[in-house]
Amino acid sequence: MLNLDNKIQYLKGIGPKRAQAFAKLGIENTGDLLTFFPIQYQDRTKIISIRDAYKQLQEGCLFVKVGKSYEKVLSNGLCILDVEIFDSTSMTYARFFRKKNQYSSMDIFALVRKAFEPKSFAYIYGDAKLERGGRFIAVNDYEIVQNENDKPLLFNKIIPIYPATEGLHQKFIRETVRSVVESSCELYPDVSSLIPDFKNIPKLTSSIAIQKIHYPNTLEDAENARRYFALQEFFILETALSLSRSNVKKNTKIQRYTIQKTLLPVFKNNLKFEFTKDQKKAIKDIFSDMQSVYPMNRMLTGDVGSGKTVVALSAILLAVENDYQAMIVAPTEILAEQHYLTISNMLSGLDVKTVLATSSTLKKKNEKEKILSGFESGDIKIAIGTHSLIEGRIKFKNLSLIIVDEQHRFGVMQKFAALDKARTPDILMMTATPIPRALAMTAYGEMDMTAIMQLPPGRTPVKTYSSNEQFAYTNTIKELKNGNQAYIVYPLINESDKFALKSAVQESEKLSQTWFKDFKVGLLHGKMKSSEKNEIMQKFKSKELNVLISTTVIEVGIDVSDATIMIIHHAERFGLSALHQLRGRIGRSAKQSYAYLIGTSNSETARKRLSIMTSTNNGFKIAEEDLKMRGPGELMGTTQHGFSEFKAGDLIKDADIIEFTKSFASKIVEDDPTFSKNENAILKKLMDKHFLNKTKLINIG
Ligand code: ADP
Ligand code: MG
Repeated sequence: MLNLDNKIQYLKGIGPKRAQAFAKLGIENTGDLLTFFPIQYQDRTKIISIRDAYKQLQEGCLFVKVGKSYEKVLSNGLCILDVEIFDSTSMTYARFFRKKNQYSSMDIFALVRKAFEPKSFAYIYGDAKLERGGRFIAVNDYEIVQNENDKPLLFNKIIPIYPATEGLHQKFIRETVRSVVESSCELYPDVSSLIPDFKNIPKLTSSIAIQKIHYPNTLEDAENARRYFALQEFFILETALSLSRSNVKKNTKIQRYTIQKTLLPVFKNNLKFEFTKDQKKAIKDIFSDMQSVYPMNRMLTGDVGSGKTVVALSAILLAVENDYQAMIVAPTEILAEQHYLTISNMLSGLDVKTVLATSSTLKKKNEKEKILSGFESGDIKIAIGTHSLIEGRIKFKNLSLIIVDEQHRFGVMQKFAALDKARTPDILMMTATPIPRALAMTAYGEMDMTAIMQLPPGRTPVKTYSSNEQFAYTNTIKELKNGNQAYIVYPLINESDKFALKSAVQESEKLSQTWFKDFKVGLLHGKMKSSEKNEIMQKFKSKELNVLISTTVIEVGIDVSDATIMIIHHAERFGLSALHQLRGRIGRSAKQSYAYLIGTSNSETARKRLSIMTSTNNGFKIAEEDLKMRGPGELMGTTQHGFSEFKAGDLIKDADIIEFTKSFASKIVEDDPTFSKNENAILKKLMDKHFLNKTKLINIG
């Protein structure tokens, strides 16, 4: 019986050895072969003449009459066979290369000679070459026909090219795929009947899409078919995500909030600025989530410096106004400390007990007991800290809101939802990694999304240079003399990377005695004690220090508005998003800021990364380039998340499809939340198959 789950080992002509080779390509069963899509196509629809082939020295298809053949042995043991070929414009040789085994008398060209019988006709795909010995066509593929008018199988059409691997030739893959497509493509599950018409792509069934992806009539056909197949894939994913969102909303929450106007107005008065339009929209979304009877599960994205902190604070104050506790978790102690200071500052004059709970404040026994009992009694309203806040035995009286800042710096996000600190917490994740929209919708698909797209007014865009030390330092001194401040960053790949650490330490000694001897230079790195780190950071903030030499500990969140210079050494060792984050430490006021990227590597990727950085400040563009260069799995650090498994879907090219599928997937879930309708049965099966075990996203009760 034909079945898509059949192991390919039992298909005709495959056997265990080739099955193993296929397994290396991720192909185990018949269904996998159907969706083993070409990586590219060879256009064999046009026949060129021999004369034109040499005119352009191009690759292409010829249609020729066959003449005599000649065999030669080259000095390096390589054998060639030249076959005379003719068309109406000229004559040349079709050349085949083979390596001769010196111990064997086998006729290595027997097959070719047999095929290329004089006076037969041949279609040839090859490469026209002009070399010392004359001109010839290096043959890549061919097909012989007996009569001039016989129809070829492999020519006059577009031919799929598959990713090949050792032990599997292109020809063999092509034949295997063809026989499976012919026998089984009708079996491939199809949900197109559930999909409304989409103006951007003509409608197809899975089976036709599969055929057209493998054997298109035109390249445009192939792309349309790929897109329609992708549409089905994204539809299944978006339905799964939508279901998981609606499951979160199944349980009503314990906490209820109403806007009391006891704290929020005072806080607003303390601010020295107006909220931007996007900040207002974000606050509105968040407040409406909080006031709903279901727990909030929202992701707030916004480029570095877009002003997410005050949005988070507004949410915190709504919780506190209603006598609940709120927590903000940051990825580094420095950032937690900074949040603590900002928040205490903005709440000055308000009677809201706020504490900083990091491993260093929790280290002192007395302090720790006080903090813990404050959380437990409900006396402390706002807890600011690092992950030490969410680990261990800290208990809260009535924690209702958890905010995770710089979420991308933490591991998998689900773990926050599973906390036992609160029964039905409202959760707000924030990230400054601007994720391309399409990726965000899949990666964070279980969450509601709000994006802050605009920066607060009055910011001057940072100027970025790919530079040498001399140029960077000379300009830095000018800036320092004007009362501005500078960061100088060295890479620290991990905390045990002694070499890189040493260079930050050494360089700070050197620089403070040479280039910057007239200025105060501070050093900050991850191996320092927390109290030291805080002291240095405070000194930099209060301008007791002019220059801060540091590692990536300053990468996220830090906000010092007079810092106008960012020098990054070995910039080639940082990823694009890290560079963007680092650069986000400057340009935080109306003053002109400058970033200098000092690179030593000449690799192509490194150069490309730096040139992207010097050409744009737009975090979304940078993230998109990052996505192109690194792929979604690596970008999000969540390869297991299921979205790197698309057979046809492309997160960059298919953003419109994702948006479209999202819009109607949620309607299907609303309409049939248990998937009990007959017409939704296949969809449910596909969802379970693709996402249930892999991501545990879905949990139909
Ligand atoms: P991020 O989104 O990167 O966390 P922050 O919340 O640290 O950004 O904000 C960056 C800076 O912009 C802070 O100094 C903050 O006070 C300021 N800021 C935030 N919102 C506004 C606004 N609407 N107008 C002017 N400045 C603002
Ligand atoms: Mg921030």
